[in-house]
Parts: sequence; C-alpha cells; structure tokens
Amino acid sequence: MAARVALVTGASRGIGAATARRLAEDGFDVAVNYVSSPEKADETVRAIEGLGRRAIPLRADVSQFAEVQHMVSEVVAHLGRLDVLVNNAGVYERAVFDRTTPEQWDRRIAVNLSGAFYCAKAAVPEMRKTGGGRIINITSQLAFRGTTHGADYVAAKAGIVGLTKALALELAKDRILVNAVAPGSIETDILAGDSPEDRERRLKTIPLGRVGLPEEIAAAVAFLASPDAAYITGQVLHVNGGSLLV
Ligand code: NAP
Repeated sequence: MAARVALVTGASRGIGAATARRLAEDGFDVAVNYVSSPEKADETVRAIEGLGRRAIPLRADVSQFAEVQHMVSEVVAHLGRLDVLVNNAGVYERAVFDRTTPEQWDRRIAVNLSGAFYCAKAAVPEMRKTGGGRIINITSQLAFRGTTHGADYVAAKAGIVGLTKALALELAKDRILVNAVAPGSIETDILAGDSPEDRERRLKTIPLGRVGLPEEIAAAVAFLASPDAAYITGQVLHVNGGSLLV
C-alpha cells in the first residue's frame, strides 16, 4: 500500500514543525512548507528522514494562490499523493485597532484565512483522486474569546472556524473530513514578544498553570488525521489547558 502523505503549512517552526514530525512518527511522508526559513524547514525534513519517512521542503507563501497550486503539484510529483492537509501557517502581530491599517488587515487576513482556503482549493482535487482525505485547520482560542490587540487575527481565526464547518458539509460526500484544532497559549515564537508581566498575566488565565507545548497541538492534529477520527467532521478540538473555562 502507498504511504499516506501529509502537507503541513508553516512546518519550519513551532506547531507546524512539531506536527510534521509527529505525523512522520505516525507513518506519513510529509511535505514541509515554509516561506522565509529554509534552514529551519531543512531541519524538519532531516528529522523526518531520521524517522525513516520521506520529506520534502516546499517554499510557498500561502497567501498567493499560484504558489499554493505549484506547491501541491510538487507534493504529488515527489510524494505521489496527498491525504492530509494541515493548514497551520499563520502570522500574529500585536496590533490595536486604531493603529491597524487597511493594508495590514488585508495582508494578515490573506495569510491567516485566505491561505487556508487556497490550500484546500488546491488539495481537494488530489484527495478526490484517492477517494478521500483530511483537512485540519489551526484556529485559536482567540476566535472564541477575542483580544484587545489583534482584531485581524481574531477575525481570521473565527473565519477558519466557519470555513471548517462549511467545507465539512460540502466535502462529506467526497469522504474528505474537515476539522479544526484551537490552541491556547503555546510555547513558540508567537509568544516570544511576551514581557515577564505579560507572561504572568497569561498564566493566570490558564487553569492548568502553564503554557502548552507544540507537541501537545501536534498530538491533537495526529488524532484528527488518524483512523480513530473517521466519524468526526466539522468539529473544533480545543487544546488550551482549560483557558476558555475562565
Ligand atoms: P510560529 O512559530 O510563528 O510559526 C509560524 C509558521 O508559519 C512558520 O513556519 C512560518 O514559516 C509560517 N508562515 C508564516 N507566514 C507564512 C506564509 N505566508 N506562507 C507560508 N508559511 C508561513 O507560529 P506557531 O505558534 O507555531 O503558530 C502556528 C499556528 O498556530 C498559527 O496558525 C497560529 O495562529 C496558531 N496558533 C498559535 C498559538 C500559540 O500560542 N503559539 C495559539 C493559537 C493558535 P517561516 O518560518 O518560513 O517564516
């Protein structure tokens, strides 16, 4: 049987890199997308090859549909098929509403929301060829609670939840299951701008008293990509240490 193949966007660092490695541990060959960190993407590729799976690095800006289409054709050319798409690539910039320009809004919506649509648009025809697949979108707890410094990010991540539900309904007939994972605060470069005071405030909002690890999001994605999740579609799996409870 041909190996199953996953494409993870934004897999050079953070949650995406951990997810790419975890899917390789679970038996997937993995396409490792990045946009600006080729060395980091190569590190992820080498880690996957060390696990005995195939991996390729693919540069593409997910906000550019032509680049996304080329990326998906490269996945199929090199790895033979596409079974799982993880829409993980994202940007967060701390920005209050009064200082967010229309250009900044458009750019961040393009990466955080349109990118997921573009990747699904390019991937679905390949999944149909093999009789089905999985799309796993990374949203955020902020889609469910808001924040005072990131209206574009919250709007895009809430859009990802809507996209997940709509595609789950539309693609069920193709046996393509579409779900989302909503991380809470996870220790990656996104939290690097935290001051000690920010960190203290953040920890107070997490009942489990610590931020999460990228591997803890990767485990949720791996579950949704696995045969155990064969009857789950259109759902959001929250992985946040309980932070939405307070
Ligand atoms: P990260 O460490 O900053 O990594 C971001 C990744 O996205 C990098 O691999 C980056 O590639 C890639 N990327 C950025 N813009 C891209 C573009 N236009 N095209 C293709 N790739 C692009 O972020 P992270 O914390 O792992 O976040 C991963 C996802 O989880 C994001 O969707 C984020 O919104 C979501 N999330 C994170 C947290 C958290 O607390 N960390 C919480 C909730 C949700 P390069 O390295 O090549 O630049």
